[in-house]
Amino acid sequence: MTDAIKTDVLVIGAGIAGVGVAAALADTHKVVLLEREDQPGYHSTGRSAAIFLPNYGNDVIRGLNRASAPLFEHRDINLFPAPLLTPRGSLTVADESGVADMEDFVRNHEGVVAIGLDQALDMVPILNRDYIKAACYQAGAWDIDVNALHQGWLRKAATLGVQLHTKSEVTGAERVAGQWHVRTAGRTYHARIVVNASGGWADTTASLFGAKRLGLTPMRRSIAVLPAPDGYDTRGWPLVDDVNEAWYMKPDGGRLFVSPCDETPVDPHDAFADDMVLAEGLYRYEQAVTVPVTRVEHSWAGLRTFAPDRTPVAGFDGAVDGFFWLAGQGGYGIQTSPALSALAAALIRGVAPDAIIESLLPKLSPARFG
Ligand SMILES: Cc1cc2nc3c(=O)[nH]c(=O)nc-3n(C[C@H](O)[C@H](O)[C@H](O)COP(=O)(O)OP(=O)(O)OC[C@H]3O[C@@H](n4cnc5c(N)ncnc54)[C@H](O)[C@@H]3O)c2cc1C
Repeated sequence: MTDAIKTDVLVIGAGIAGVGVAAALADTHKVVLLEREDQPGYHSTGRSAAIFLPNYGNDVIRGLNRASAPLFEHRDINLFPAPLLTPRGSLTVADESGVADMEDFVRNHEGVVAIGLDQALDMVPILNRDYIKAACYQAGAWDIDVNALHQGWLRKAATLGVQLHTKSEVTGAERVAGQWHVRTAGRTYHARIVVNASGGWADTTASLFGAKRLGLTPMRRSIAVLPAPDGYDTRGWPLVDDVNEAWYMKPDGGRLFVSPCDETPVDPHDAFADDMVLAEGLYRYEQAVTVPVTRVEHSWAGLRTFAPDRTPVAGFDGAVDGFFWLAGQGGYGIQTSPALSALAAALIRGVAPDAIIESLLPKLSPARFG
């Protein structure tokens, strides 16, 4: 066994959450980032649909979305030379059974306007007029360049001296004289503070540190990649989703991503799409369009990990010294990552976060689970 590596903060997990907080802390703290896989971003972060929907999620998520938007828009151009957000727009449709839900959706969400079916078909000509009975549109929806965001933060972290150790699964830990002694297969690390940014494994990781599990549940979500329908230029199409989240479709280059919006609770693992779930979702999508699905080019699945109240967990554990939670980002972990990284870094530094997120603190704190 080699000598122990000493650091101020040890971050477990090099997805968007771990990399974001490592980059945000690196100018004031010595940070080591541990990742079990041989590359960062291998799990949920590398498998998202890469969309920013300001209206998506509960009130707390929407607060985090609002706080993240300016951080995306006024990016540091040294880290992110190209824009991180590209306008996409979002069109929500409903069949007969969803018309009342659509009315509620328009009433309760900012920046969403009801539109007629002609307008909806102008935007996405393959929509099935016989099936769709109501539609609404929000211009404020963007594609996120997830890879640029993740890589930019990794570059910043590396420039400021953060060490990234891949193939380094944390397997055990003890608290000794105010320091964590954390074990991987080949090394021991000593750190005052550990950040649990281990995504679908966050509760498992907590157990290694003697912290109480919070009921974080990984839920599988799948995506099928279809060729764009012949004769259509899909590049300018908005994201289209069903008002009751029965499916969504997002254009990506010359292809369409179609998700069955599955939310299957699973144990944390290297997720893959279930063919039956995809087939059922594609069937629901096919009802809403006039072009049949003839071929699935490929598919993938990832874990969206939710706390029982579907709100992320960010803050020090109340019972276990020096153990910080940054987990439970569900289906919003990319779009909320600028605000959550800044918030986590402020709490670890012991300074007040920006006023815009400070009010959300009690709702994000692990203490809310008692
Ligand atoms: C299909 C799909 C679509 C999505 N679409 C969107 C979207 O459009 N917009 C959006 O904002 N969000 C979206 N999300 C959600 C988003 O991807 C996640 O919320 C986000 O990636 C979570 O990031 P993370 O860093 O917490 O987790 P991860 O990226 O999973 O990173 C956690 C890391 O911890 C590592 N790890 C775990 N245990 C250990 C250990 N013991 N030792 C060392 N390392 C460990 C893992 O290997 C992993 O790399 C989507 C998710 C899915 C699956």
